[in-house]
Amino acid sequence: MRIACTTLGCKLNYAETSTYERGFREAGHETCSWDETADAYLINTCAVTVTAEKKSRNLIRKAHKLAPAAPVVVTGCYAELKRTEILGIEGVARVFGAKEKGLVVPETLKLLERMETAVPERVLFSRPLPQAGPSHLHGCMSSKTAPAPATADESLRRAMAEEYREISKETLPAYSTGGRTRSFLKVQDGCNNFCAYCTVPYARGESRNIPICELVKQAEAIAATGVREIVLTGVNTGDFGRTTGESFLDLLKALNQVEGIERYRISSIEPNLITEEAVDWIASGTKFQPHFHIPLQSGSDTLLKRVGRRYDTALFAGRIDYIRARMEQPGRAKVFFGIDVIVGLPGETEALFQETYTFLRDRIRPAYLHIFPYSPRPGTRAATMPDQVQDRIKTERAARLEELNEELQAAFREANKGLPERVLWESTDRDGIMAGYTGNYIRVERPYDPGRSGQLEDIVL
Ligand code: SF4
Repeated sequence: MRIACTTLGCKLNYAETSTYERGFREAGHETCSWDETADAYLINTCAVTVTAEKKSRNLIRKAHKLAPAAPVVVTGCYAELKRTEILGIEGVARVFGAKEKGLVVPETLKLLERMETAVPERVLFSRPLPQAGPSHLHGCMSSKTAPAPATADESLRRAMAEEYREISKETLPAYSTGGRTRSFLKVQDGCNNFCAYCTVPYARGESRNIPICELVKQAEAIAATGVREIVLTGVNTGDFGRTTGESFLDLLKALNQVEGIERYRISSIEPNLITEEAVDWIASGTKFQPHFHIPLQSGSDTLLKRVGRRYDTALFAGRIDYIRARMEQPGRAKVFFGIDVIVGLPGETEALFQETYTFLRDRIRPAYLHIFPYSPRPGTRAATMPDQVQDRIKTERAARLEELNEELQAAFREANKGLPERVLWESTDRDGIMAGYTGNYIRVERPYDPGRSGQLEDIVL
């Protein structure tokens, strides 16, 4: 059977889809891309914004149009948070929530077997979360205590908290393979922070991690496929060790020993979880690259406090300064900082936005900004906060940050001109041109040479 798989969202989702694909291939089936006609379709969804959910629905409909008889299997964060809604879409045969990730492959294989005996089926894998007002919960509570009626939002949040505990019992190990120069390795899942705007903890559960010994085995398996770079990924990667008692630095040191892997990147890490000890170790000459992706979200301490972030701008700037002081030497390439920023958080006035803008332009001066207009998520505290910002204003502020982003990218390239670096060439031939990324994440190109793909090469920027 041919199974078409596609992924929306984060690197974690890509690692999980790739793991499902390996499971299907190991069972003797073929996997293909989403826009091909297939016997079944699997989509790994994202729920980080309203747009992500809409894209998930569109992809489901596209698959059903392409092959009306083929079942669509849906998993991922949107599947966890809005199961009933997804089951209402034509063509959907299975919805796997977060605690059923270990069942995606075996149950889809069973579905394929049944298809071979031509018995169509639609099954909901676990009790759907209540989508509407409080009436669902009241039913079960009214017999005993009859507390004051909860708001729709409170009962949704209570139901999400209950589910949060359930889904934390499952941790699917995952890593990506398949023709890519680098591989995403899932080291951690879930989060305990509950930042006011974020649904991720509800979709992925408590912070937990895969044991180091297992991750080392997976890194060795990745090395055996010829891939030379691994990106460590998780929801709150720096929170690694919650369930095994191991430390994030232990993990880095163990992976650094794996033969065949030349480079590591940390996909994203909370500023308050970057320790000086880890930076000192990374700076001491390891395979970990001068590339840090750090969520800031806002450069205003007022807003950081309001949404429950666990640092202020002084701590954030202090971490950046420390990394630069330890890792940037004269004549050596600069550290690449990619910074997440949310525009239009509830209560963001023009003055508070200006604080963010100035903090980035004058104090941090990162290499790249990942800019996200705030998207209210049901069940989160921020969704019901006063002083919601109009979409028109969010768009205008995002555009101003985008302009700054271009300036910062150009300044970073300029600052690295003439400095030595190493590039890992990718395998793709685009009209006779091949590309690769340096350790400090600068993209470089050259005429295509198949002998260089997957190879590391010293260059001068
Ligand atoms: S740290 Fe905050 S923003 Fe990040 S996943 Fe956890 S709750 Fe969401």
